[in-house]
Amino acid sequence: MHIGVPKEIKNHEYRVGLTPSSVREMVAHGHPVSVETGAGAGIGAADEVYEKAGATIAATAAEIFASAEMIIKVKEPQAGERAMLREGQILYTYLHLAPDPAQCADLVSSGAVCIAYETVTQPGGGLPLLAPMSEVAGRLSIQAGAYCLEKAHGGMGILLGGVAGVPSAKIVILGGGVVGSNAAQIAVGTGAQVVVIDRNLDVLRRMDRLLGARVITVFSNRDNVEHHVLRADLVIGGVLIPGAAAPKLITRQLVDDMKPGSVIVDVAIDQGGCCETARATTHADPTYMVGNVVHYCVANMPGGVPRTSTYALNNATLPFALQIADKGWRQALKDNEHLRNGLNVAFGKVTCREVADDLKYDY
Ligand code: NAD
Repeated sequence: MHIGVPKEIKNHEYRVGLTPSSVREMVAHGHPVSVETGAGAGIGAADEVYEKAGATIAATAAEIFASAEMIIKVKEPQAGERAMLREGQILYTYLHLAPDPAQCADLVSSGAVCIAYETVTQPGGGLPLLAPMSEVAGRLSIQAGAYCLEKAHGGMGILLGGVAGVPSAKIVILGGGVVGSNAAQIAVGTGAQVVVIDRNLDVLRRMDRLLGARVITVFSNRDNVEHHVLRADLVIGGVLIPGAAAPKLITRQLVDDMKPGSVIVDVAIDQGGCCETARATTHADPTYMVGNVVHYCVANMPGGVPRTSTYALNNATLPFALQIADKGWRQALKDNEHLRNGLNVAFGKVTCREVADDLKYDY
């Protein structure tokens, strides 16, 4: 199967659909790969590195879309890309269709077979192609918080780990899932005092087993959230109720009462944020103040570290991409119900129930 990897064109998107190593695997399976010139520049992979891995370099995205049977990307196709899709062509990428009716309409009218990373599932639950980005965002949240705590960035001017004779910072992590557990792992490494709050006891037990006495696990209720947030230097928001807006655990009043110079990193901002005062920001202008509290609410945190993110994403996406390329999409989806859950649009029909319900398509 001929694979095409166009350069990402969404604003400030530096990731790429396939790394050179993934290209090499594809080629070893007998699938020719075309990569648009410069597609890997954002991760430091020059055209020559892709050529060495076995890819052919194409001068334009139009060439890729015209020739490839499967397009592999990272972000949802932009309007110009959607116009180049054709019937039966496979599109394998993040789509996030529910809040994006214009994109959904274009994909439906293209007739393409669109497989969305975010709805591929795994045995035992969980979303294996979303998890790597939550791992990245969770780990990055502590780095971002440390930066915001510096005086020049609006923070109270403390070091997470303190030094001998000076206490370390207190980090409160709301949600102990993928974001929260990765944040906690980095947080304990800094020497900070770490509290993880979750409403799921099994999550707290897992955290307790993983990090032992280096974290304090706390059951989520109003009293406990208030108690710990009021004493926090850094709060990480990593809660999720699948398919719903994030619960507002931190009220405006609580923000007003937090320590001056404390920091909130609301990772859950892509679901509206778990703090009432959160609004989405960008890497170009990541923070703002509400009263004396620094807010960092970047909606695409993994985009800030595109090399790590691209490699982490490819580790998860490549095995499925190989199944599609080796067997053809029909057989691959027939054989793997979890990959089948990724199918969102095919031959002019919406094939994902949640997207169809939200956007009023027949299912
Ligand atoms: P997850 O499902 O693995 O974990 C969410 C946790 O929140 C669960 O353990 C759940 O029990 C807990 N939770 C739910 N309601 C709670 C409550 N009231 N109190 C305490 N805990 C509660 O999800 P995840 O992968 O860790 O993702 C967390 C959020 O981060 C999601 O909204 C995700 O989309 C977002 N995210 C954002 C970025 C970004 O760039 N900003 C990147 C990746 C993920």
